[in-house]
Amino acid sequence: MDRLNLVDGQWRAAEATGENISPANPADVVCAYARGDAGLVDEAVAAAARAFPAWAEATPQFRADILDRVGSAILARAAEIGRILAREEGKTLAEATGEATRAGQLFKFYAGEALRLAGDAIASIRDKVDVEVTREPLGVVGLITPWNFPIAIPAWKAAPALAFGNTVVMKPADLTPASAHVLAEVLAEAGCPPGVFNLVMGSGRVIGQALVDHPDVAAISFTGSEGVGQGIAEGCARHRKKLQMEMGGKNPMVVMADADLDVAVAACINGAFFSTGQRCTASSRLIVEAGIHDAFVDRMAVAMGQLTLGDPLEADTQIGPVVSEAQLRGNLGYVDLAHEEGAEVIGGERLDRAGFFQAPALFVGATNEMRVSREEIFGPCASVIKADGFDHALTLANDTEFGLSSGICTTSLRQAREFKRRSAAGMVMVNLPTAGVDYHVPFGGRKASSVGSREQGRYAAEFYTSVKTAYTFAG
Ligand code: NAP
Ligand code: MG
Repeated sequence: MDRLNLVDGQWRAAEATGENISPANPADVVCAYARGDAGLVDEAVAAAARAFPAWAEATPQFRADILDRVGSAILARAAEIGRILAREEGKTLAEATGEATRAGQLFKFYAGEALRLAGDAIASIRDKVDVEVTREPLGVVGLITPWNFPIAIPAWKAAPALAFGNTVVMKPADLTPASAHVLAEVLAEAGCPPGVFNLVMGSGRVIGQALVDHPDVAAISFTGSEGVGQGIAEGCARHRKKLQMEMGGKNPMVVMADADLDVAVAACINGAFFSTGQRCTASSRLIVEAGIHDAFVDRMAVAMGQLTLGDPLEADTQIGPVVSEAQLRGNLGYVDLAHEEGAEVIGGERLDRAGFFQAPALFVGATNEMRVSREEIFGPCASVIKADGFDHALTLANDTEFGLSSGICTTSLRQAREFKRRSAAGMVMVNLPTAGVDYHVPFGGRKASSVGSREQGRYAAEFYTSVKTAYTFAG
């Protein structure tokens, strides 16, 4: 069945149709889908603007009930959604089903948050005056999402946006429209009023840009690459839109000599290679204290050799394909670059089979100055960088333009504490992979990784609401 756009409660075809293929097997067409245009964005924004006053004024209970039904429906369909997601994105069925479950949990969480949105009552400095601080929705928000978490990221943006009374126009990644489409279906079936949630699929340069430029879109929440984010930031500044952006990472995982090697190797294999390294929180710089370096590399090489690469729909697969031919070509270019820059490369070759498969790659003997250690690759590739002690490791970890997540493997409480305090990242992990987070706490980073306030947890209200300060004189 073709997937259509959702505008004002209507399923809308478009002149252009896209073909959503599986990266594990390009002959497997997941779906055909309608690729909208700027005119459809205009219609979607107009519908969202019309729907806004009633949605904003609806009782929190009304919104909570709808979000709760959405959460239940996603959870009930998690296995089916996981299959669609694994087929279109390429992550393993276990990861994909887990992601679908996460999307359901996010809607349940924000159903509760709709009821918990709170303000302040503060004593005035003036006699017989009361001061109240309340939070109000922004209006129409534009949500622009990447391909690597094609239902969790749409969920963690749409759920708080809707919970707090905004209406939404969503533009999902062109490589993975089917998962976001399921979300639109579920929202419509759960009784979300027409125009409250709109989905317009198609190219970022057309649909995304039209959202950024539209005068009736109050705010943009974007997750994606730094380059695209830069253009969106400039557009939002031009139109004075509220903006939140989550972008790339070059996340360090520090392995100290006192680490439990089993814990460290498991955390690094997971952080660097699971989801084919296509996580913004992936560990792409493994910073290893000299004393444990060679043993660590040996253990990593053995563990990498034991990973099962293959069809994401097979139960024993641990690593699926890279998302696209273009992304794979980019990754292989970085493997060549690692050789040229003087690293010893373990793995990294393209597999001789249909689909976009690449063996995990370790760049041993890398330095933090090499381009392979500075640029986000967004594939199953990690540099191993030797450090002389804790201070050096910490300096290397923080020496990056990014600041999303970081990690340390150590058995020393003192080192763990020091690292948590001094790491220049938004999320810090101790004896855990740099990727893999809870859904009810803030998510986001610093420096080039993030702009604006945090996503997820209670903190999402900072972005999706505007504060109003009211003064009343009752003399
Ligand atoms: P991307 O190329 O930047 O695309 C992200 C979204 O922006 C897509 O929907 C894309 O549409 C759209 N877009 C493209 N050009 C646009 C424009 N001119 N105006 C408005 N929107 C536009 O990123 P991606 O390749 O999908 O995802 C990978 C990147 O996402 C990585 O850099 C990764 O680190 C980052 N990421 C960050 C986080 C985080 O929370 N920090 C989480 C996940 C991923 P098309 O699909 O049509 O190109
Ligand atoms: Mg696809």
